[in-house]
Amino acid sequence: MGVTTTGTASPGAAPADPALRARPQQTRDTVWWFDALREHRLLIQRCTGCGRLRHPVGPMCPACRSLDWDTVEASGRGSVHAFVVSHHPQLPGFDYPLVTALVDLEEGTRLLANVVGCDPSEVRIGSALRMEWLDIDAERAFPQFRLAAVPA
Ligand code: ZN
Repeated sequence: MGVTTTGTASPGAAPADPALRARPQQTRDTVWWFDALREHRLLIQRCTGCGRLRHPVGPMCPACRSLDWDTVEASGRGSVHAFVVSHHPQLPGFDYPLVTALVDLEEGTRLLANVVGCDPSEVRIGSALRMEWLDIDAERAFPQFRLAAVPA
């Protein structure tokens, strides 16, 4: 189900099965974020004391130490702040070479995610990105990104 990761695997090679990916660690302080991903909502935690947005999520605002927070939903638009192209080691469930980017979300926080559907040589610092969802199974959905179409 869901989006299949495509891209630069060897011709004829079957895409990796994302169900083989390791499950992320979740705690009482982060489970709500993963729950929202399953509903295809990328949430950003917002301190209701000072208004600061933060990611990764956590119980306390690093700016004002407030424990009170709510969320805003990310648009899914962003750009590449930094990225790596991994060749080895090859973890189960991913296609290689694998592009992992630190994405500057337009809301101002950053998120680590994969960039799929392109040749890794096309990715640049500052490349515009659009988010899509990778549905792995009933328990796991994750945001991933593609290079945004550049107007001709
Ligand atoms: Zn705060």
